[in-house]
Amino acid sequence: MTIRAFSIDGDGTHSQDVPAFAAAIKEAAADLVLVPGNSRVRRSMAAAALRAGAAVDTGIVDVAVEGDMATVRRWVYRQRILAAFSRVARPWVVVTDPALFDEICAKLGVKPETPKLDLAADTHSWMNGRQSAVAGGESTIRPDAKMLFVAGAGWTKKQADGALHLGEAAAAITGFLARSGASLGSSKSLVDMPEAAEAFKFMSHMNQIGQTGSTPRHAKGLATCCHGEEPHVVGWRFIGERRAVNLDANCGWAQGKADVLYVADAFAVMAKVNELLG
Ligand SMILES: Cc1cc2nc3c(=O)[nH]c(=O)nc-3n(C[C@H](O)[C@H](O)[C@H](O)COP(=O)(O)OP(=O)(O)OC[C@H]3O[C@@H](n4cnc5c(N)ncnc54)[C@H](O)[C@@H]3O)c2cc1C
Repeated sequence: MTIRAFSIDGDGTHSQDVPAFAAAIKEAAADLVLVPGNSRVRRSMAAAALRAGAAVDTGIVDVAVEGDMATVRRWVYRQRILAAFSRVARPWVVVTDPALFDEICAKLGVKPETPKLDLAADTHSWMNGRQSAVAGGESTIRPDAKMLFVAGAGWTKKQADGALHLGEAAAAITGFLARSGASLGSSKSLVDMPEAAEAFKFMSHMNQIGQTGSTPRHAKGLATCCHGEEPHVVGWRFIGERRAVNLDANCGWAQGKADVLYVADAFAVMAKVNELLG
């Protein structure tokens, strides 16, 4: 069985990427084409596979090959059942969980290559540039970031001196995001708070992680001023290494939900971290 793996990151538009990905699939002439499911790939790979006459599956967490038979595994039914299946159709484009791409390639003994993606856009429209969907500012939700930084409601609570420190909290959070390139997540309590909406304009309900929020897939996560209650932490189920900073040594993170809990003042910790990051 011929297997090729393509490492695709960076930015690209759907109209440019679909013909370029399709050409790369055809040119690969492989039975199995592995690609990491980052946001760029997820946006265009299904259409490209259709155009290249390939089968495609996304959200794959494991691939096993035996002779001419490839079997992949994917979570289904809201991550309750791990299904294994295979296909006879070839080529078969297998879009993996981005965090598992390198591991799957190493297991199959395939070295990821960077395909040539310099085809002209197949479109009847002219494109004069691109603008972020977030009006007036930079997006704080970065699905491809290595790290998730979660801010909880503690940032808006009265601190040891009996006062609120909303401006200082906003500066600590945005300062860390700018220096680390992390994606910003939030607890429900924080994004539901009117005072947070006023002071933390860089976040909205779109940042909420958890049962009624999102379930991101970053390699690492750091929670600050967040209690780590179950409805929040279920949203962390795909986060690899988990750390938390909380004043309360008995918070939810201490109940086996984080690898490391720093029992400390997040204002002081993040000020020091931002200082060290320069
Ligand atoms: C049906 C249902 C669905 C829900 N869905 C979600 C969901 O999707 N996502 C979600 O997040 N929640 C969800 N919740 C709410 C969830 O149960 C919690 O209420 C919420 O996550 C608590 O948010 P928090 O930890 O930020 O706030 P709090 O519980 O108020 O905790 C604040 C924490 O900040 C700490 N703190 C304060 N100051 C400092 C400091 N200086 N340094 C360090 N730590 C400090 C405190 O010790 C405390 O632990 C849901 C609840 C229900 C009932």
